[in-house]
This record gives sequence, C-alpha cells and structure tokens, in this order.
Amino acid sequence: MRKIEMDLAYFNITEQLKTLPIDEVWRRYINNDLRRCGNRWITRCPWHGGPDGDRNPSLVIYTHSNRWHCFGCGQGGSTIDLAMKAFNIDFKEAVQIMAADFGIMIIGSTPEERAEARRKGLFAKAKRELEARFKVKEGEAYQRLASLYRAVDQTLAEIKTEEDLELFGGLYHIATPLEHVLEVLRTGTPAERFAVLGDKQVRRWCGWA
Ligand SMILES: [Zn+2]
Repeated sequence: MRKIEMDLAYFNITEQLKTLPIDEVWRRYINNDLRRCGNRWITRCPWHGGPDGDRNPSLVIYTHSNRWHCFGCGQGGSTIDLAMKAFNIDFKEAVQIMAADFGIMIIGSTPEERAEARRKGLFAKAKRELEARFKVKEGEAYQRLASLYRAVDQTLAEIKTEEDLELFGGLYHIATPLEHVLEVLRTGTPAERFAVLGDKQVRRWCGWA
C-alpha cells in the first residue's frame, strides 16, 4: 500500500475510535462508577484529589459530543485521550490498544503486531486495576492512621501528672513516626507511599497484621 493510502487508512481508524461510545470506553478502561444525569454521565475523577479521592464527582462524560472533561483538574478530551490517560501511553499506542480491544483492524498491521497490541492492552489494564486497588487501600490506611494519630495526640495533651506520664508517655514514641507516615502518604511519590504501606509497623497500626 502506498504511504498516502496508509495515512488515510490510519486516519479513518482514529476517526472510528473517536466515535466509540465514550461511556463504554470509560467502563472498559476505568470503572463502572458512572451516574446518569440527563444526556451526560457524572463520575469521580481518578486523577486528582490525593488519597481521599475526588469526593464530589467532578468528571463529566458528554454523550452528545462523545467527550469527557474534569472540572477539578481540567483534563479531558476524546476517547483516545481517555485511553492515553488511563494507561499513560502515547497516541499511537492508544490507537493500537483500542483497535485491538474494540475489534477494529489496523490496515497494514501484521497478526504479530495486533497480538502485541492486545498483550500491551491487557498488561496496562492489569496495572491500572492494581493501582486502583492500591489507591483504595491507601485511602483506608490514611483514615485509620489519621484517627490513631488524633487519639495519640489527644492523650498526650491530657498528660498532667507523673502517673499519667508513666502510663501514657510511651505514646511519644508513636506520635513522631506516625506523623512522618501521614506526611509521606500526603506528599510522597507513589514508590514512597507503596513502601510505607508495606512497613510492618504501619500494617500493625492499620490493623492489617
Ligand atoms: Zn480530575
């Protein structure tokens, strides 16, 4: 096939991908957490809000224009932009994965290339699911550690007598590391947060061990 024909075929495929129902693409790549609201869907944005998440759903999916937009972080776009964002991949990879997932043949691609795109898609999806589960776990950990910290802090503030100090003074050794863990969960990189949640002591504080 000549170059210009290839380009045209590729353009046709990207146009087809942009017309895939956006809510279907969302369900396939993100989650089923969509609430219908007239001719649009509302959902929580997975990309902003920190460990607590986007509590008041600020992401809107428009069926008439087949586009999405988050009023919290300003991200949005077409179905292809959604796949790019979901898997953190570039345009070309997103087109390949979507074409494989939604059964649209990329003209000129070999069976091997299609199998490779499919494999990448499955891998990226598994990675995303794992990250989503980690996020839930992390939110849960944050809530528990924060309330533990409040309890410790309150108890320490109420220490008045020698006897109190003897009974509760040991809590001073918990307050500082707890504070540090909360700080990491609020501001750390994903790797740092992951490491902190794997810590034995932290797992005990969360009641997981
Ligand atoms: Zn957002």
